[in-house]
Parts: sequence; structure tokens; C-alpha cells
Amino acid sequence: MRDDTPTTPTTELPPAEASLKAGFTPYGHHADSLFQECPQKYQYALRRNLSTQGYSTPLVAGSALHAGLHVYHHPSTKGDASLKFLQATIAAEKIMDEVPHAARTFDGENWWDMMHFDVLRMLRGYADTYGDPAHTPWIVRGLEEDFDIEVPTPRILDKDGKPILVRMTGRWDGLIELTEGPAAGALVTLEHKTTSDELDVMVRRYRLDAQNARYCIAAEHKHSKRVRGVMLNIVKKPKGTRKPMYKRQLITYTDEELAHHLDEIAVIRIQQSICDQTGIWPRNGQWFTGSCYRNYRWCEFWSLCAYGESMGALAEFRPPITEPTDEPKE
Ligand code: SF4
Repeated sequence: MRDDTPTTPTTELPPAEASLKAGFTPYGHHADSLFQECPQKYQYALRRNLSTQGYSTPLVAGSALHAGLHVYHHPSTKGDASLKFLQATIAAEKIMDEVPHAARTFDGENWWDMMHFDVLRMLRGYADTYGDPAHTPWIVRGLEEDFDIEVPTPRILDKDGKPILVRMTGRWDGLIELTEGPAAGALVTLEHKTTSDELDVMVRRYRLDAQNARYCIAAEHKHSKRVRGVMLNIVKKPKGTRKPMYKRQLITYTDEELAHHLDEIAVIRIQQSICDQTGIWPRNGQWFTGSCYRNYRWCEFWSLCAYGESMGALAEFRPPITEPTDEPKE
């Protein structure tokens, strides 16, 4: 039964991740962006661990491609493009093999075989496109580095007038030093992205993705060096006879933009704290007009919001088959 005793919200940050779903932290980009999308959804998915989802083709394919690209770019991976492709393939296969055979078909369709074929096509095409070292004008300074840091906010102060410390966790794909062009010598983060959308459209969208700005802040804080940009390494998925496509794009951020991102994260944490303390998790503001429909499907919790949390409705939900990670790759 709900406790209706009034509480007084404060601006203290969440004390601990006590009730958070295993594998997630309240300080990662995925948790923050889910909360921004819909606090109620965040509460269902991460605090109460409700889910109807099994394996997701984009997530498995994205993870496999990431594993392949990680190996492809690793300084210890030697040889020409074909040899690097083979080593990358082994890493990608390992991820895809984790899907149990029983889960490789869905409604009679063999999604796993099609995904497997596409991932290998993407890796082969990547090696063909960037096989010449001259096409990769950077030096790798670090790959898949975890961070767990606390950064003072520029403009949000606590009751004693001190900057609130924002804790951030996550893992960037890479930290690289550019070797060509006007930005030669600069350190930027490297992010591998897979998409089905138009590449130019995705570049514009990724520039607004708070995850990239967060990684710049974190890399700068962790390495005490200026990091003001991200190299997007985008792979467009093949479809039927359409081949995969590739694009690399450097995007940069101003000091003001990064400061704004940091303040935004602090505001999200304060809002989460109020929800935690009051037990009130607001719904997506326009939930009844269709904004619960994202990425070509309705939110999986629609029935709970629309018809209430009966035992029958809750019975549809179960823990996901896969163990989630904090920063799912797409
Ligand atoms: S159905 Fe809409 S309001 Fe309800 S949890 Fe999902 S996104 Fe939020």
C-alpha cells in the first residue's frame, strides 16, 4: 500500500543505488537518459526490474560489432586488413554465440542467422574501407576505459554554497590523438555507432547526444588533459542487397556546451532524488497523445500505465533473459 505521509523533498543527491536493477548504476548515461525520457519508465525498468523483452537484434548486433571494432583497433592486433578482420570476427562471433540456440528464432523467423550474416558483412566492409592505415589518421591512447568520477557542477550549488558533485560512471570506446588536419595533436574520444538511418542525419543527432559530451567531460577529468570532441565512427547496417556504409565525423564541443551538459546531469539527479524521496514517478508528459511510441514501437509498460497494475498485468513482465549492461551499445 502506498505511504501517503507527506515528505519534504531536498536537493540532496540519491544516497545509494540500493534498489536499482542489477548491472545498472544510477550514474550512467543509460539510466539518466531513460529517466529524462520518462521517470515512470525509469522506475519500472530500473527500480522494479520489470521487462517483457528478450534478446534485441540491434543490441546483440551492436555489441558484436563493438567487440569486433575494439579488437580491430587494438594496438596489439597486428597484420594487414584481412588479418585484422579475422581477429575482429572471432571477437564478434564470441558475443553472438552467447545467444542460446533456443532464442535464435522469433515467430518462425531466424533473426540470429540474418544478424550474424550482417555483422560479418559490416566488419568485412569496414576492413575494406579503412584497411589502408592512411585512412585512420589517429593514434590510439586508450580503448574501452571505465570511469567512475565525481565532477563539480559549474552553476548548481548546495545549501553551503559549494558546487554539487555529480558522479558519473560509464565506459568510452576509445581515446585517440588526432594526427592530421587543423586539430592534429588534440585528444578526442572515439565512439563506434551502428545505425539504420541516413548517415548525415545521424551525425546531426549524435552531436546532441549527451553521452558524447559526458565522455568528453569524463576523459578530461580522468586524464587531466583537454578533451573537447568525439570522433564518430558510424556504420550503417546493410539491408537486403544494400551494402553497409561507413562514415567518420569529428564533432567538437565548446566549454559552455560541456558546462551545460554537466548542469543538466545535476538537475536530473536532483529530480531523481525527489522521486526517490516521495515515491512519485511522473509519467511521460504527453503519454496519452502517442509520445510513448518510440523507435517504431509502443513503450513496453503501456498496459501498466493505461490500465493499472493488476496482478494479471504485472504477470506479463519478467526479468530480461540477458544481463543488462550500464551502457548498451547501438
Ligand atoms: S507508457 Fe508512456 S508514460 Fe507509461 S512508462 Fe511508458 S513511456 Fe512512460
